[in-house]
Amino acid sequence: MAYGEPERRRLAVVDLADRRALEAYRPADPEVVEEARRLKEAALLDFGLTESAVASWLYAKCHHQIPTTAVDTAAVVASGDGSCLLLYNPAFFVGLGLEGVKFVLFHEARHLVHRHLLAAPELREDPVFELAAEVSINHVALVRLGRESLPLLNGRPTGVDPRRVYDAYVEDLTAHGLEPVAHQAFTETDLRVYGELKRMRHPPVPEPRLCLHLADGGVPADQETVDAVTSSALLNSLLAARRGHTGAERELLDLMGRTEGDSPRAARLWGRLGAGMLRGETPRTRTVDWWQRWLVDVLGSKLRDGERLVYPKKRGALLAALGQDPMLARRGPVREKVLVIAYDTSGSMPDHVVGWLTELVGRIDGVEAHWLSFDAVVMPFGPGERVYGGGGTSFQAVADHVEGRTEVNGRRFDVRPDAVIVLTDGYAPPITPREPDRWIWLITEGGSDWPETHTPAMACHRVTTGSR
Ligand SMILES: [Zn+2]
Repeated sequence: MAYGEPERRRLAVVDLADRRALEAYRPADPEVVEEARRLKEAALLDFGLTESAVASWLYAKCHHQIPTTAVDTAAVVASGDGSCLLLYNPAFFVGLGLEGVKFVLFHEARHLVHRHLLAAPELREDPVFELAAEVSINHVALVRLGRESLPLLNGRPTGVDPRRVYDAYVEDLTAHGLEPVAHQAFTETDLRVYGELKRMRHPPVPEPRLCLHLADGGVPADQETVDAVTSSALLNSLLAARRGHTGAERELLDLMGRTEGDSPRAARLWGRLGAGMLRGETPRTRTVDWWQRWLVDVLGSKLRDGERLVYPKKRGALLAALGQDPMLARRGPVREKVLVIAYDTSGSMPDHVVGWLTELVGRIDGVEAHWLSFDAVVMPFGPGERVYGGGGTSFQAVADHVEGRTEVNGRRFDVRPDAVIVLTDGYAPPITPREPDRWIWLITEGGSDWPETHTPAMACHRVTTGSR
């Protein structure tokens, strides 16, 4: 980049997606780095326990969390290779203290969610939209984290103060003979904040140093990566909500309320996720993807933790039990959930159903998935691989294998599955598995849904294979 341009576009001192360069750039004092890391870990633990399941899941997906002086504050970088990096300036975190770090980390996570749900390019190019994002995000952060004011850095509040922006809005509109709305209406939804700020003759321009997203050039934010990481975090939060994590449920309901009504994109994304089930909504018409919502719901309950929720030894154990931090769960004594997906290859398997299941299971964290195909015999396969079959069908062969009685390829199945999903047309002699409450039957069109009326009845739903 040529000299003479720095005023127009303030370039980062290193490539913000280059991990090695970030780590190598003027490292801070090791003690400061250690303290900053401790604060960051403590903040994420609190998110997982109570304050923000969504933020907790988002950071679980930032596999690299790098203390670096290459940024002045903190930012989440979504690079084009599909990975997310959390960058934080160690001295900044130490200066903020735990409460401030939580505020900033919540703020950054919410930026990703905001960008995912409200991603219209024409909006993003509008500086007023950027300001509105800061106002919405900080308003929600103050409410969710139960704060009276913005975090202090060196004794001064840091960030865009939603109250002050509202006051400036009232003053501007009144001066120009317009009627401002009350504060509650102003902050009601993310797009409402934007709409009201657009009514100002002179919307305020926040200082870029307050948030990296406000700086020219900003932070690398690859939209596909943002979408993949955020939708996965939302799905896992939804599963956690269905497992009985009330914090996750309240957060999702609140987030839906803030975004879905004003934005067709957000409404579509929430619909695809099946999040309406949190409100007890059933679709007015029989939508073709209802079975997908059903499966997410049932799976959420089958993968529920039982006794570990009741007897948490430590905060970390409780966190892991809530399924909030897979990295932590893997480190500790808590095992991953085991999921078996069995495809009946004797009939024809609908491609889009198989594709959707593969993607869904791939996005659930903390789960060890075993893929089986079966006709009269069971054959393991890798997700995404094509499977072929032919002969008759035997559900008993699947039960015999997952219950550890028969070997396949010389190996016995030696783990106890938490859930077994069977995709089949249902045409074979009915069975009674050892743990019927763990079995989920997806019946293809025109098939037999005997598991529903079997004794004992099992979770069973028809998949629709029509146009979609
Ligand atoms: Zn921001």
